[in-house]
Amino acid sequence: MAQHFLLSAASRTLSLRSIYKAGEDAAYETFCQMRWPETDGEAVCPCCGFDETYKITTRRKFKCKACHHQFSVTSGTIFASRKMDFVDLLAAICIIVNASKGVSMVQLSRDLDC
Ligand SMILES: [Zn+2]
Repeated sequence: MAQHFLLSAASRTLSLRSIYKAGEDAAYETFCQMRWPETDGEAVCPCCGFDETYKITTRRKFKCKACHHQFSVTSGTIFASRKMDFVDLLAAICIIVNASKGVSMVQLSRDLDC
């Protein structure tokens, strides 16, 4: 009989403890890795698909070298125009995906204090 995925070691790659211990910069890097896995976290323009960008590090944005479109790691996702820190967004993702029977948004709101 096959083991349930949430019981396997492969499912334990993202934990709340490791997210908060690593901090905001590591959470941002994780977001980049999740958004652009085929380029190992290097930004790809959502407008034209060009994979060479200028990094605007002070605002955590990118500017495409081909079409000059400015975008961030959350552009075009449900996290666009976010107000929360990347570490809290990643924690929310972790709580939701680790809850095998689902989690209510009231509980998530209390867990993240938002
Ligand atoms: Zn572009």
